[in-house]
Amino acid sequence: MQRRITILGATGSIGVSTLDVIARHPERFRLHAITAHRNRDLLLAQCLAQRPAFAVIEDSSAAEAVREALRAAGCDTVVLSGRRALSDLAASEECDTVVAGIVGAAGLEPTLAAVRAGKRVLLANKEALVMAGPVFMQAVRDHGAELLPLDSEHNAIFQCLPSTFRPGELIPPGVRRILLTASGGPFRTLDPEAMASVTPDQACAHPNWDMGRKISVDSATMMNKGLELIEACWLFDVPGTRVDVVVHPQSVVHSLVDFDDGSVLAQLGNPDMRTPIAHALGFPERLDAGVAPLDLMAIARLDFEAPDMQRFPCLRLAYQALASGGTACATLNAANEVAVAAFLNGRIRFNDIAVLVERCLDQSPVQALNSLEDALAADAGARQLADALLPQLEVET
Ligand code: NAD
Ligand code: MG
Repeated sequence: MQRRITILGATGSIGVSTLDVIARHPERFRLHAITAHRNRDLLLAQCLAQRPAFAVIEDSSAAEAVREALRAAGCDTVVLSGRRALSDLAASEECDTVVAGIVGAAGLEPTLAAVRAGKRVLLANKEALVMAGPVFMQAVRDHGAELLPLDSEHNAIFQCLPSTFRPGELIPPGVRRILLTASGGPFRTLDPEAMASVTPDQACAHPNWDMGRKISVDSATMMNKGLELIEACWLFDVPGTRVDVVVHPQSVVHSLVDFDDGSVLAQLGNPDMRTPIAHALGFPERLDAGVAPLDLMAIARLDFEAPDMQRFPCLRLAYQALASGGTACATLNAANEVAVAAFLNGRIRFNDIAVLVERCLDQSPVQALNSLEDALAADAGARQLADALLPQLEVET
């Protein structure tokens, strides 16, 4: 069967890696649609190289420019604009597999549309699950969607669990704990005093992974691991108390599962997202991902240590939001998105990302989360609160 793929967020780091894997297996995959937020030059180049049936870009004048350039080049990709087109294409009968590669809360609605249409959904967009976990997982069950994790840690855990398990089911008996590995990011050993003055470019220079700027900052604060902790609890049906974060600076062991009999299974590999992407695209078959074989002799050693919760308060805040339940994780996520954008724009200092998130959590009453609307309302409320609190933290210019 040739799979027909829609890539939400094709112009991002995940999108580009996905296109790379797909291009290696033209007999297996056909591109149905690709989407971009603003990068029209890359979207155009991707259309010319891969000839999807549809392409989407948010802005209508950008869409018109792409349309004209494609017409001139004799490419018949149909170009759409607007947010609605994302969900329509994600749910279209013309595709069977949707790669959720949009960053942030903006990915929730189109990803959920794919789930509700019963697609195979390859999830990179962890923020969707953090915001709306119970609603998202219920939709997976109700609509028979096949949810496969792309996040390297979650893909590793999925590979270590019994082969019949699928996200949305109860965790199989015999699993004791999940061990979620974390690189510790670029500031793991930096002098804590120096953390106050790090720049966005320093925060985005990840030692092992080449990723978009938002997740790179999240890795530097370790909020990424906090979001992944919440993601793991929803995907694998475990409480936060059964997930331990283990700092592993080499990023070779992508995560582990600890079983009742004392066995611990791990998945290893070079830090290259094409491995989990190829795993999920081909599942249950194994495909060539273009990734170099792991050279354990060259790596020589693997180190493990406990996370430093003083240095990385965002990780503590994520455990706290998870324990609070309801809308707390949506609040955590939205406040973090506002804080990271403000840091990347030079408005607040690195350490104030955690301060802003903590203030938002403290000042937002936790409510029940039973619907997409509840999640969107909590997200909007937390953004409003974070925007209102930002001036207290702004650096003087
Ligand atoms: P990125 O910034 O490189 O790309 C983001 C993509 O989303 C782009 O295609 C962009 O056009 C699109 N986008 C951004 N804002 C949008 C909006 N408002 N509406 C519609 N589209 C929008 O990000 P990335 O590093 O590829 O990360 C994407 C997601 O995957 C994130 O949730 C991230 O946490 C997750 N993830 C990434 C990696 C990685 O290695 N990059 C690893 C694991 C998980
Ligand atoms: Mg990850």
